[in-house]
Amino acid sequence: MRNILVIEDSPLVLRILEHLFRQEPELQPVFCASLAEAELMLESSARLFFAAIVDLHLPDAPGGESVDLVMRHGLPCIVLSGSYDEQRRDQLLLKGVVDYVLKESQHSYEYAFRLLHRLESNSRVKILVAEDSDATRQYIRHVLAPHRFQLLDARDGDETLRILEQQPDIDLLVVDHSMPGLSGFELVKLLRQKLKRHELIIIGLSADAKGSLSAKFIKHGADDFLRKPFCPEELNCRVISTLERRDLLRALKQAAQFDALTGLNNRRAFYEQALRQLQRAQRDGQRLSAAMIDLDFFKRINDGHGHASGDAALVAFAQAFAEAFPDALVGRLGGEEFALLSTRDAGALAVALDRLRQHCAGLHYAAGAPPLSFSAGVYEGAPDNLEHLLHQADLRLYQAKHRGRGLSVWQPA
Ligand code: GH3
Ligand code: MG
Ligand code: MG
Ligand code: MG
Repeated sequence: MRNILVIEDSPLVLRILEHLFRQEPELQPVFCASLAEAELMLESSARLFFAAIVDLHLPDAPGGESVDLVMRHGLPCIVLSGSYDEQRRDQLLLKGVVDYVLKESQHSYEYAFRLLHRLESNSRVKILVAEDSDATRQYIRHVLAPHRFQLLDARDGDETLRILEQQPDIDLLVVDHSMPGLSGFELVKLLRQKLKRHELIIIGLSADAKGSLSAKFIKHGADDFLRKPFCPEELNCRVISTLERRDLLRALKQAAQFDALTGLNNRRAFYEQALRQLQRAQRDGQRLSAAMIDLDFFKRINDGHGHASGDAALVAFAQAFAEAFPDALVGRLGGEEFALLSTRDAGALAVALDRLRQHCAGLHYAAGAPPLSFSAGVYEGAPDNLEHLLHQADLRLYQAKHRGRGLSVWQPA
């Protein structure tokens, strides 16, 4: 739960903000209608607030004094204003407010809330500013600092590469084109050979008036481009929108790879990774073992104890399964069917599966539900055909079901 100080006197704006706050249970607003009220509140409780949303014009503070008040207390400050004044906006941004939001439409208020959420995650975002001009580098730092990012500096191409090598968790690189040594453009080309867009965001910078440079940057893998000189708001918007895009991309990748219920690899991801493992095993002259696993009488859990209990059983099994085979490839192929691929021999896998079976029998996943039981088929062979490995394991799984369930079949069929 984060407390947000809102200094605003307009009843209409307050109604909109209240409505938006109701949809954000983790943000708790505290409303003050005047500078005097906000002063009292901050005197006693400034440290309880995470950030502030501040009206630029209040009856007892017509000149933006509320912004100064909030900044004096070190709170990230999002300014709301009824009128657009470019000079005022730049002054405020240079003063260190997070952003200047016009009271225009539902969209601008929603933008303010996106900023609040970003502030929360920004402290985990690392930005490397690669720029040889001290003045520009400091300007960029100055504009980005109120967003609570972790900021790092590099002064030339080589230093940029070194820092990225040492700190692979850097999220975003702002890179100037003309620097000593490697140019920004050469850096982008080099970096994109190994780092994809969801791994490193790149924003190019240049004072070059030629329009083609921005296109060149973007075609070679930069996510965005800014021409110098740029105003603080431009930099803010591009950094935030590229981060949002990156987060969306990561979420999509996550959804495409992992099963939503259990978090295990889904069928597609299992097959993709299995094919890669097969290639490695071929190269290294290794054999591979595949196991197919199916929960026993699973329908009875659903029918007798409800679908939610069935889901809980799947989650409990998946967790135990992944923990039992930390160095194997595991996945949920669908329904209550799971698969495994390992470099261990079939006998060793069968022993490990027996241990997992004992563990599962004692798992409490839903009140009154029966013990979890599964059958498995294991097959070990040359790594030349994935379908064959899995099919042979599946045949043995059917034998296991046929022989009464709750067991593994791994001997040659
Ligand atoms: P057997 O021992 O022969 O494997 O019997 P079974 O009941 O486990 O197998 P069956 O194939 O008859 O039933 C599987 C059931 O799994 C049917 C389906 O409704 C259920 N199921 C599939 N996916 C899910 C899921 O995500 N959640 C829940 N709760 N049930 C699921
Ligand atoms: Mg330069
Ligand atoms: Mg089953
Ligand atoms: Mg089944």
